[in-house]
Formats: sequence, structure tokens, C-alpha cells
Amino acid sequence: MALASTDAPDRADRQRALLAALKPHLPPESLVWREAQLAPFECDGFTAMRERPLAVALPATEDELVAVLKAAHRLGVPIVPRGAGTGLSGGAMPHALGLSLALSKFNRVLAIDPLARTARVQCGVRNLAISEAAAAHGLYYAPDPSSQIACTIGGNVSENAGGVHCLKYGLTLHNVIGLKGYTVDGEPIELGSMAGAIDTAGPDLLALAIGSEGLLMVVTEVLVRLTPKPALARCLLASFDAVTKAGEAVAALIAAGLTPAGLEMMDKPMTAAVEAFVHAGYDLNAAAILLCESDGEPASVEAELAQMRAVLERCGATRIEVSRDEAERLRFWSGRKNAFPASGRLSPDYLCMDASIPRRRLAEMLQRIEAMQGEWGLRCANVFHAGDGNLHPLILFDAKDPDQIRRAEGFGAAILETAVAMGGTVTGEHGVGVEKLGSMCVQFSAEELKAFHGVKAAWDPSGHLNPGKAIPLLNRCAEGGKLWVRGGVLPHPELERF
Ligand SMILES: Cc1cc2nc3c(=O)[nH]c(=O)nc-3n(C[C@H](O)[C@H](O)[C@H](O)COP(=O)(O)OP(=O)(O)OC[C@H]3O[C@@H](n4cnc5c(N)ncnc54)[C@H](O)[C@@H]3O)c2cc1C
Repeated sequence: MALASTDAPDRADRQRALLAALKPHLPPESLVWREAQLAPFECDGFTAMRERPLAVALPATEDELVAVLKAAHRLGVPIVPRGAGTGLSGGAMPHALGLSLALSKFNRVLAIDPLARTARVQCGVRNLAISEAAAAHGLYYAPDPSSQIACTIGGNVSENAGGVHCLKYGLTLHNVIGLKGYTVDGEPIELGSMAGAIDTAGPDLLALAIGSEGLLMVVTEVLVRLTPKPALARCLLASFDAVTKAGEAVAALIAAGLTPAGLEMMDKPMTAAVEAFVHAGYDLNAAAILLCESDGEPASVEAELAQMRAVLERCGATRIEVSRDEAERLRFWSGRKNAFPASGRLSPDYLCMDASIPRRRLAEMLQRIEAMQGEWGLRCANVFHAGDGNLHPLILFDAKDPDQIRRAEGFGAAILETAVAMGGTVTGEHGVGVEKLGSMCVQFSAEELKAFHGVKAAWDPSGHLNPGKAIPLLNRCAEGGKLWVRGGVLPHPELERF
């Protein structure tokens, strides 16, 4: 019986049928279904939308995983893969009539090969745990999302996660060599080369799977590239008396042929919030600060820092400080890494946006966001992976006020539309999930969206793997007009300028 059919029984019946099908394959502690137990799984880091699934399965072995997939598939039950649930766009938000597949028990580092500089790890291994396991060999895993203490490599692969060091060392996509996993109906798949070959024949399905937000396959194993730890890293802090000058300095650094190991930007409201939280030593008088890192051999680091300093001074930096030792470098970065939690000090709630624009338009975008604050009547703090052109405006609001929720969502959508109009994209690293479905209608044409649905159907003909995420249905775009947001279509004064 396919439970997803229209004349299907109600939730309790569906749950009973699903549990009966799964219980023979899982120990009791690996199947969660009582209401109180389901509460921690009802959302990810995008807390604005929540659902309770019929059940959560926590398989610990491949045999258990395959049995779960096959049983759910026989019943036509939607499956939502889940890593650590730190995603910020609702990708792991459960399906109300589905099964959440929590992969946290797939948490073993299977092999470190210091000669090939690779690590073979299960999907539930935390990002930071890979670097910890490789440290004894002088190696580390370079992509470093700020959530790296908690997020899993399976989640990183599915979101193509970035981090402060991705400007120089690449995103997840550039650091994954092979993937193993299963289709929604439990058939094994291997992509790229789990043996570490640099290229494979045929179209690059590995690249297609990375960033596919759990829509194409369940990842179980990942072969990642490891990077030698640099002999030295030093972080430069530069202050500016205008955010636009900081934005122009970012473009100037890259134009000068420099590739900093990290190039991040924070505006005044953001530095004030993190300074009170972690005392990183930031200049509280600055309108914006840049964190700019150089790493490598000591002589080249000193030379690069001198070049960076010259460019930043030319761009009007009002104060420049360089970390004197490793403890100070880590203190400088602690502020940036704690930016999201520190935002809790600014307002009861915040909406963390994620868009990418060409670097050269950074200063212009910052001016537009400043203007939008007045238009939408809400404040916004800014923290950016500036070197990548990846913006994270944090829109501050109070979720107790429905009008503020509506305005926050409208403000967020206007930022994404502005990014698209500037030649950017609606996501830089957090994915589309459920959060940005409406904005996808703005970035892509109907033909492009149909092609995305075609790819999904080729991998998952039943459509049961993480349905309703990442790719909007065409009728949803049509119904929403140019832009759909939760709660209705909103006017976007900012758009009239384009
Ligand atoms: C404080 C904070 C800071 C953050 N900083 C960054 C940052 O700097 N850079 C960045 O890129 N992101 C950042 N994020 C977002 C988030 O941490 C990343 O998207 C991360 O990759 C999600 O990993 P996860 O294990 O938590 O995945 P989840 O949130 O559990 O899942 C994310 C998506 O991946 C799918 N998925 C998970 N595991 C699998 C699997 N094994 N097989 C198939 N699909 C799977 C899910 O279905 C979902 O669509 C941050 C989040 C927080 C809360």
C-alpha cells in the first residue's frame, strides 16, 4: 500500500504501518516516534518552520539503513535525511507524513592516508573531527563552516558548505574526491573515485550530488582531500570609517593578485554584539572591520602581510593590527566565528540571509541594504565571507510581532532579489531548503526549473527523497507572481530601482 496516495489513512494509521515495517530492522532505541521524543527533530537551524515526522530512524549500520530505505520505499513514505540539523534553510525539516533518517550513528573515521592526503569517513562524522583525526599527520580538512564543531560531513556535502578558509582552499565541492551512498529505494551508488583517482569517466555526477540538499541520494561515506597545515598563519584586522570603503578594499585586495586564506567583514552593529560576547579585541569605533589572513611559510606570510597592509592603507583603513601569536590570531577569529550566536544579544530573533554577489559590487550592496533598513523598518547587522562575495545579513526582528515577521521575510526576499539583479545568486552556502523556494523563482526560468525537476526525477523517480525542498514547483512560482514569500506576495520597493 502506498501511504502517500490521496485516499491514504490518517496520520496515526500511517505511523502504525511505518513502525510495523521498521521495527523488525532496528533496535528499539534506534526508532523514535513518541511525540515528546520527536520535538528535538522538528526543525533544523532555520527555526521559523517546523514539522513533526511520523518517526525518526537512527540506523547504525549499512544493513539497517538499506532495510529502512526499502521498507519506507515499499510504503511510499517520504524520507528526509538528517545530519546534525545545523542547516540554516530548512533542508532537514521533517515531512509531516514522512520518516526522518538521522545519520548521526554513522560517525566513524574509517581511514586516514597521509601519503595520498585523504580521509575516508562516514557521513555522520563532524567536520572538525576530520581535522582532529588528521592532525597527527600535520594535515587538516580545509572547508571550515563556523558550525564545524557540530555539523556533519554528510550535511556539508549536501549543502556544499563553505567557511572562512574557502576563498583560498575551496568549498566542499573542491575537497571531496568520492562519495558512497544509496538511492531512495536502497540501491548502492558510488560517485567520483573512492579509490582516490583524480578523474573518472563520464559526466561528473559527483559534482551534481554535492550541494543537492538530500534530494538525490543518501550519502553514507565520503573520501575527502586533506591539506598540509601551514607553517604559520597570521590574521590582520583592519578598521574602516565607512562600510563602503571596507567593501572596496575587499575588491582591491583581490584585484592586487592576493588570495587571503580568509577575508571576512563585519559592520558596526555586528562587532559591538560579538565584542560584548567574546571580547575578541575589535575596534568598536569602526564602521566596519575586515579580518584578512595570510598563511604559508613564514617569509611568504610576512611578504603577503606587507602587500595586504599597503592595499588596505591605500583604501583608507583607519587602524591595522596583526596578530602577534597563535593565541591572538584565534582571539581575532573567535569574534567572527561567534557572530551568529552573538546576534541573540541584538534582538529576540534574527533571520540569517545568505546570498552571493560579484565582489566588485559589495560596496554598492551594502549601501542598498542600509537603505532597505528604512524601507522595511527593521535593523540589519552584517557579517560576510567578503572574499567570496557571500553575504550574511542578519535581519533583526521580534517573532512575537506577526507584522515584524512579515517585514523580515520581505526584507530578506528583497536582499535575495537584489543579489540576483546584481549578477549574484540566492544562496552562497546555506542552500535553498524550504526557506528560499520563492526566491528560486526569481533566479531561474521555468525551463531551468523544469530541467532541475528532470534531474531529480532521474535519480528519484518516486520523488520520495526529501520532497518539497530546494526546487520550487512551477505552479508555486506562477501563483506567487514574481516573488512568493510566506504570508503572501509583498511589494518590494527596492526592486523598482532595477
Ligand atoms: C552557527 C552556525 C554557523 C554556520 N556557519 C556556516 C558556514 O560558515 N558555512 C556554511 O556553509 N554553513 C554554515 N552553517 C550552516 C550548516 O552548518 C551547514 O549547512 C552544514 O553543512 C549542515 O550540516 P548538518 O550536518 O547539520 O546537516 P543538516 O542540517 O542535518 O542537513 C542539511 C541538508 O543535508 C541533507 N543531508 C544531511 N546529511 C545527509 C546525508 N548523509 N545524505 C544525504 N543528505 C544529507 C539534509 O537532508 C539537508 O537537506 C552554519 C550553521 C550554524 C547554526
